[in-house]
Amino acid sequence: ARVHSNVTSLNDVNDYSKPADLYKDKLLGGLLAAGFDEDSCLSRYQSFLYRKTAPHKPSPYLLSKLRNYEDLHRRCGPHTQSYNKMVEQLKSGHSTGSMDCQYVVWISFSGLGNRILTLASAFLYALLTNRVLLVDRGKDMDDLFCEPFPEKSWFLPLDFPLTDQFNDFNNESPQCHGNMLKKNVINTSTESLPSYLYLHLIHDYQDHDKLFFCDGDQGILGKVPWLIMKTDNYFVPSLFLIPSFEHELSKLFPEKETVFHLLGRYLFHPSNHVWGLITRYYQTYLAKADERIGIQIRIFDTGTGPFQYVIDQILACTQKEKLLPEVDTQESVVTPADNPKLKVVLMTSLNSGYYENFRNMYWEHPTVTGDVVGVYQPSHEEFQQTEKKLHNRKAWAEMYLLSLTDMLVTSSWSTFGYVAQGLGGLKPWILMKPENQTAPDPPCRRAMSMEPCFHAPPFYDCKAKKGIDTGALVPHVRHCEDMSWGLKVV
Ligand code: GDP
Repeated sequence: ARVHSNVTSLNDVNDYSKPADLYKDKLLGGLLAAGFDEDSCLSRYQSFLYRKTAPHKPSPYLLSKLRNYEDLHRRCGPHTQSYNKMVEQLKSGHSTGSMDCQYVVWISFSGLGNRILTLASAFLYALLTNRVLLVDRGKDMDDLFCEPFPEKSWFLPLDFPLTDQFNDFNNESPQCHGNMLKKNVINTSTESLPSYLYLHLIHDYQDHDKLFFCDGDQGILGKVPWLIMKTDNYFVPSLFLIPSFEHELSKLFPEKETVFHLLGRYLFHPSNHVWGLITRYYQTYLAKADERIGIQIRIFDTGTGPFQYVIDQILACTQKEKLLPEVDTQESVVTPADNPKLKVVLMTSLNSGYYENFRNMYWEHPTVTGDVVGVYQPSHEEFQQTEKKLHNRKAWAEMYLLSLTDMLVTSSWSTFGYVAQGLGGLKPWILMKPENQTAPDPPCRRAMSMEPCFHAPPFYDCKAKKGIDTGALVPHVRHCEDMSWGLKVV
């Protein structure tokens, strides 16, 4: 059911003939736990009105794992007896071996798209290692997202003893896992382990930091109660290459490419004001369309744009792939189509030039099919302003709106686009990266899967202790379409 078809207003929800089914739909096939206060997070219970019924159902095993996680979070979350006890151990500096609960603390770092991907990665890591995920709220995580777990918050309490050090943690910090390995102060036979380790998983990480992705090191990490993680990468593909996680992952995700899709829908519910941005925009510009096409433009070239070669590339892609109709520049007399369709393009970009170009093209000329094309762009913020609240609210709303389209065109290398495709369950057409200001041919390529790309994966064979092509080990972890050295789950 979508707002524009079966359900025309949210009141119609009450008219459903099968309330049980509706309720199931509302909880996304059991993915979401019941029992939240609906008003505090409208998106949790309304999102299904805006999406097609999801063809990718969560496995019963994933559902039971999530319910168990919720119990764990209830028992170990902020200010519980166990949490207080483990914070005392953290302050003591040593792991005492008695571990009521173990934690992975996610540090807020990098652009919003990156943050959403890394948080999902950290949560999967928590599920695989029976840890509790706690989230550093940074500047505005609590402004953008609802609480995903029942009863206990996912936010790290403000008085957490290490928060002041989050900014300074780097791969030379004394508590950095990789740095300790490098200096040989920690190894498999180490008897006394610290109460916490810092995991440096940022794209500039070094060989020793990358040992995080080896079974042997996971064994050591398993004995440390607190892991503090800073990353800007979707590292899930490399978790699939750790033998001790393999079996569990295949049970959790029989359909492998659904990892971010399902965890994303489970975790990321826009807060009420972001939900307002999303639903008002959807109802005004997208609801009445027969077809919605998302085009996400993210240019990493220097200079402000718009660039003609990018305009040409988008045009070549959307027409070659028949996502949008061609226009008749001969101005011949238009015979109206029998049943003209309204196609709506939702464009997102920091710049308004691309949108103006497309909007004018479809206003100034008729399409050869007789269909009409409306082009809309919610904002043009000109440059990335990660520190500003409304800026990030809009960025989140735009990623989400893109995820509500029927067909999606994304830009290479952009985590903003990965979030949209993953939440939407869409395999996008990816605009290949221009070289020397020239659009490549073909201009775009259909993605193999809806999964995000891990931009900085390790290339190391933990057993043989030598370099290896990690994109050629198993059929379901491959190199990405848009970044030849990246890895993605397919
Ligand atoms: P990435 O850099 O494309 O991988 O995506 P990130 O989301 O991590 O960082 C880019 C940031 O730039 C976003 O979070 C926004 O702050 C801003 N940004 C980039 N493209 C857009 C856009 O199309 N719309 C809006 N509103 N912001 C954007």
